[in-house]
Amino acid sequence: MIDRFNRKIEYARISITVRCNLRCRYCMSENGIEKISPKDVLTYEEIIHVTKIFSQLGIKKIRLTGGEPLLRKNICELIAALKNINGIDQVTLTTNGILLSKYLENLISSGIDGINLSLDTLDAKIFSELTRRDLFSKVIESFQTLIDKNFLNIKINSVLIHGINDREILKLVELAKNNPIKIRFIELMPIGCAENFIGVPTSEIFKVIEENFGNMIPIDEKDQLHGPARYFKIENFIGQIGFIDALEHKFCSNCNRIRLTAEGFLKPCLNFGIGLDLRNLLRSNCDDQMILSAIQQTIYNKPREHLFNEINDLRDERKMYQVGG
Ligand code: SAM
Ligand code: SF4
Repeated sequence: MIDRFNRKIEYARISITVRCNLRCRYCMSENGIEKISPKDVLTYEEIIHVTKIFSQLGIKKIRLTGGEPLLRKNICELIAALKNINGIDQVTLTTNGILLSKYLENLISSGIDGINLSLDTLDAKIFSELTRRDLFSKVIESFQTLIDKNFLNIKINSVLIHGINDREILKLVELAKNNPIKIRFIELMPIGCAENFIGVPTSEIFKVIEENFGNMIPIDEKDQLHGPARYFKIENFIGQIGFIDALEHKFCSNCNRIRLTAEGFLKPCLNFGIGLDLRNLLRSNCDDQMILSAIQQTIYNKPREHLFNEINDLRDERKMYQVGG
């Protein structure tokens, strides 16, 4: 559907858990999450129900995220059910990769259309320092399994932080030289624990890449389902380089997404706390038409732009692992 600023909203990111098997310093505290009761998390039936309503409103792409989505049982059954919904063209997944090689075969059988693997470093020591877990080999194994299986739509997400992994740019870019992947640099957004760190701005990453690999040629991405990433190619590279620079290059005028938290709160903008308590609606006596109208109104009123760079009384206090990135 079209919101009040004439943006076509077609993409929903659905978080299915707040739990995680890593403790990335910029996302989660050492002690992990605040406990929530399992009954506060949307069931798969509820997620499928909401997605059917989303699809009636023009949502075409679903991304499952978390927390770590592969920690939730029977995720492949959920993916298969979402793929079956009329109007849903793509179901994709964002994962930290710890459990990915174990589940990849089943994910492929369930019809997954794309996998985003978060990988901020190619150095085992930096990985342990950043994630507080000594599990680098698991993530690399998953990356290799994706490549070996010729999985088609692989994106690697990297968040660079000054003083931690800011020297990893070239090694990460090299992944796209030799592999059919998109490596995407995501600017650190000031949410939760991330406020204690300084992210590397896109312009700095861009400069380092061009100094070392030559000109980056923009790719005209006509397909809006890709969302706000800007993609580039480099001569002789098999893969592509992408940037999601929410701070340096505000892309809100092209934003096509909404977010649903694991606890069933519909967020039209990452930055703001405003939205819709869908869990409450789903568990009340509301019929589908009432739920659809409430979602429609929430999407219509999606804020014009984020205010991450300003003091903002309406900002969301949720952490990134609660929202799903
Ligand atoms: N656990 C999964 C993973 O790490 O891929 C999915 C959830 S995680 C919240 C999704 C993405 O958000 C990851 O790529 C992570 O690096 C990114 N992320 C987390 N906190 C962030 C922040 N403050 N700014 C930008 N990206 C962030
Ligand atoms: Fe877990 Fe992903 Fe957050 Fe890291 S970024 S702590 S893997 S939810």
